[in-house]
Parts: sequence; structure tokens; C-alpha cells
Amino acid sequence: MASSETQALTDGFHLVIDALKLNDINTIYGVPGIPITDLGRIAQAEGMRVISFRHEQHAGNAASIAGYLTKKPGICLTVSAPGFLNGLTALANATTNCFPMILISGSSEREIVDLQQGDYEEMDQLAIAKPLCKAAFRILHAEDIGIAVARAIRAAVSGRPGGVYLDLPAKLFAQVMDAAEGQKSLVKVVDPAPRQLPAAESISRALDVLKTAERPLIILGKGAAYAQEDEIVRNFVEKSGVPYLPMSMAKGLLPDDHPLSAGAARSLVLKESDVVVMIGARLNWLLSHGKGKSWGAPKLKRFIQVDIEPREMDSNVEIAAPVVGDIGSCLSAMSVAMGDSWPSVPAEWTATIKQRKDVNLEKMSAKLLSNTVPMGFHSALGALRTIVKQRPDAILVNEGANTLDFARSIIDIYKPRKRLDVGTWGIMGIGMGAAIAAAIETGHPVLAVEGDSAFGFSGMEIETICRYDLPVCVVVFNNNGIYRGTDTNPTGGPDAAPTVFVKDARYDQMMAAFGGVGVYATTPDELTCAVNEAMDSGKPTLVNVVIDENSGTESGRIGNLNPQSVVSKK
Ligand code: ADP
Ligand code: MG
Repeated sequence: MASSETQALTDGFHLVIDALKLNDINTIYGVPGIPITDLGRIAQAEGMRVISFRHEQHAGNAASIAGYLTKKPGICLTVSAPGFLNGLTALANATTNCFPMILISGSSEREIVDLQQGDYEEMDQLAIAKPLCKAAFRILHAEDIGIAVARAIRAAVSGRPGGVYLDLPAKLFAQVMDAAEGQKSLVKVVDPAPRQLPAAESISRALDVLKTAERPLIILGKGAAYAQEDEIVRNFVEKSGVPYLPMSMAKGLLPDDHPLSAGAARSLVLKESDVVVMIGARLNWLLSHGKGKSWGAPKLKRFIQVDIEPREMDSNVEIAAPVVGDIGSCLSAMSVAMGDSWPSVPAEWTATIKQRKDVNLEKMSAKLLSNTVPMGFHSALGALRTIVKQRPDAILVNEGANTLDFARSIIDIYKPRKRLDVGTWGIMGIGMGAAIAAAIETGHPVLAVEGDSAFGFSGMEIETICRYDLPVCVVVFNNNGIYRGTDTNPTGGPDAAPTVFVKDARYDQMMAAFGGVGVYATTPDELTCAVNEAMDSGKPTLVNVVIDENSGTESGRIGNLNPQSVVSKK
């Protein structure tokens, strides 16, 4: 009897935490509640950072951005059914974006859920999560926690990264086992994201295609930024001398003012290029699927694609030279195989691009200087452009419609992984989650440039920003509504039009309500002053920027995706 009383014990709570910590995962983003409240408490007591949000979706978005920035799975912890569902949006978004994250949800009792007898927050969460993530596991026994966490980590970060679901029924947490046995059951994952070496023939095939190019183009995507092989990417681009176009989150992988950047000649290079090297970027809707008029059809183009996911090849158009492997291995192999006498890019092509860039940059800089009040998007973004140039270590978070489209092209980024935005789905609501994770994971100041509508999706999380005293400056581009603030109700009835908000709302006062700094800005100078002060002090700040409610276009630059009725408009 005496021996069992002195026997050291552990339980499900501790084993989950020990398994994460053993794998160098030290931060949890989540919302506490039944049955995981104590998990968060114990995690904090055990030295983990536990960041509590006001809504699970934002905790999940934070976890996925933590994964993107660190290459370790970000952890999101939620309660059962409704909390799980809130987190699920972020899990699906992470998977879509190839961000590694693990959603850990508490769940109700299997026996009751499976017989549908009406448990507290009853839901078959595992079945629901499965189609929306890379892998989904349920743990029923404490002794399986080590293996399950190991599998979840591997699934999240190996190959093409993505989201993983871990289902932890309430009963698991209280299961007790011998502490030493428990310790032995944990797994430290060896080489969780193994290098994937490209086949030698894929390298020579790719270079054969590239060699024949007269108007080559490189497209860098966020997969290349994620890989953290910045030197290798830069060497490959510079050695090849091929102009490149960064996808939005790949901006800064090479600085946007790099002479080979073709960002300011985007439509020209998409149309006129004859060979395109895709590097960690997909030919999805963001690139018009690699076909059509914007790609210069019916002219023929040949694609080389470097990607870790073999099934990405030929997903939209024929890939003449697939190079399957991790970015670092593929590009260094290509650089080596190019040797010392790689032919330079035809001067006519680089000159054409330079000419177009110069014209476009000239046009833009004139617009940025405009000094009208209320401000338009350009003058406000011109101010932020200068600030980001002076503070290249700051991380820019960006969402909205017009606020997103304009900021993407106006604000240059100078270092890798300094721009976080709406990603593959183009969704609203990532703002505060991304900003919080960026601040927590990097310690660098964060500038979140938000449309007023976009901000609304996660706005309550400014309380979280204040609570953890994070160096986040939120700039809300307030034009009184979605796209514009000028729509009216055609019936003359009392309801506002569906796309407009309260006029002249004071988002800055929300921040002040939680003890942060709120600033109301009507001119570029006021905006500049407020943001600089926030970045210097590191104090949570929200700048409400008054933008002309007439400026902004329907759906920003993707109006073509927003069907418009030709019959019912009055
Ligand atoms: P973007 O939106 O910037 O074009 P995508 O998210 O569409 O970027 O594409 C990223 C691509 O990068 C995905 O196809 C993914 O498989 C790939 N990828 C992610 N990590 C790596 C890596 N380490 N090595 C190679 N490819 C990667
Ligand atoms: Mg707006």
C-alpha cells in the first residue's frame, strides 16, 4: 500500500504539456474553457507562454502565423464544439496556406457523442475536422499522448506544411499513470521536416528549359519565404539574373527595391515572359491560374516549378520542368548546376522591364504625395511606405479590400517574412491574430494596416494586445464602410445600406478603452507622427485614419469575382 502512495504520478494534462515542451513548442494560443481550462493553467505554470484570446478564430490565426514564422507548428487550444468550430476556420485556412499548425480541442465523452445522447457540447469533432486539414487524430489513452503529439508535429511540418487536428476527450486529461512510464512514452521528433532532395534529372531538365528563355521570369511565393533559405533564394535569383515577381507574402525575400524586382512591371512580365520559374508559389486564382489574357495567351509559355508537393505540378497548366523537393535543396542544386558561365538574360528584356518600372514608379510617386483632406488611400499609404522603409524590421500585417490592394503595391518590404496578409483565400479576419503572433514570436514591432471592415472581424482582440502589452500599432483606414462608405438604402427606409458602417466611427476610442493609445488622424503628418511614436514606444496603439468615403472601388482589384446583377439594381 505504502509504495503506491509514494509512487510519482502524472496525468493527461501534464503529458500533453510535456510532449509539446519536449519538442520545443513553448507557446499556446487559445481560449480557455471546459475541458481545457486547467491545461492552459498548468501549461503556464510549467513555463509555457499561454496567450488567451477573445475568440478562437483569432487564436487559430495566430497559431498558423506562428507556424509560418518559425517552421514549428503553432498550437491553438480550444474548448469543445462551438470553440472547436471557431478554431476550425483557422485550421482550414492554415491548411490552405500551407502553414503548420495544430488545433488541439477538448471534446465531450465518446460513449455519449457516438450514441448521440446529447452530451454537453456534443459533436463528433474528429469527423468534422478530417476533411479540412492534413491529418486528424484522437487520443483516448494517456500512454498514447507522446506518439500522437509526435505524429501531429510530423504531419504539420513535413512535406507541404498544413493544419493538423488533435482531439482530446475530457476524460483523457484526468487519466493517471506512473510518472516515469509517462516520461518514457514521450517522443522527441527527430528531423520533423526532412530535406527532400530533387532528382538530378529534374535539375538538368529545368536548366535546359531556362537556358532557351529569351524573356525569363521568376515568381517567388510564400513557400519560398517559409523555407527560410533566404541566402540560397537570393543567390539563385542573382546568379540567374532573371527578373522576379514576389507574391505578396514573398515580398522582402529579396528587398523590393532590388534591381531584379519586376514588381512594378507586373502585368508586362506576366504577359510577355516566355519561361516562368515558379518557386514556392502556386498557379491559383491569385495568378489567374497561369493562363488567359493576363498571361499573354495565346502565346505559349513554358513553366518550371519548384515545389515540395509533387501533386502541385500540372494543377492548372502543363509544367514543362517540375522540380520536386524543398526550396533550399532544389535551388542550391540548380545554382551549382548552372556553373560559372551561365548565359546572361537578354539585355532587351531587362531594358523593357526597367523602362516600364520607371514609368509606373514615377506615376505612383506623384499620387503618393497628394495632400488632400480627407485623405485618399494613396496619401495615407505614402506616409506608411516611408515609415516601413525607415523601419525594415517591423512586420507589416495587411488586410482589407482597397487597403490591401493599394498597400501591397505601395509599401515596399525589405526583409523576408515581414509581410503577413490575407493569403491564399484572400480572407478578412486574420489581422489581429497575425499581429499578435508576429509580436509574440519575433519581438519586433508590428504595423497592422487594416480596412475598417477587415478590422471589425478581429477588432476585439485589441484587448488581447493591451493585456499582453504587445508592440502592435493598428492603423484603421476608416472610409465608413465596405469598399466605400457612400451606399444608401434605395428604398429610402431607415436601415443603412448593407455595405456601410456608422459614419465617422472612432476606432481609436476602442483602444483607449483598454488602456492603449488611441489616435485620430486626418492628415499624412498626423498619421506619420502617431505611427512613429507607437513604433518607438512599443505601446499598443490604434490610429483611426480618416479616409475619404468616396475613395475605394468595389471589391478592390478583384471586382471581376463579385457578380453584379444587371436586372435588379434600382
Ligand atoms: P503564394 O500564395 O505566395 O503564391 P502559395 O501558398 O500559393 O504561395 O504556394 C506555396 C507553395 O510552396 C506550395 O505549393 C507549397 O507546397 C510550397 N512549399 C511550402 N514549403 C516549401 C518548402 N520548404 N520547399 C518547397 N516548397 C514549399
Ligand atoms: Mg472601408
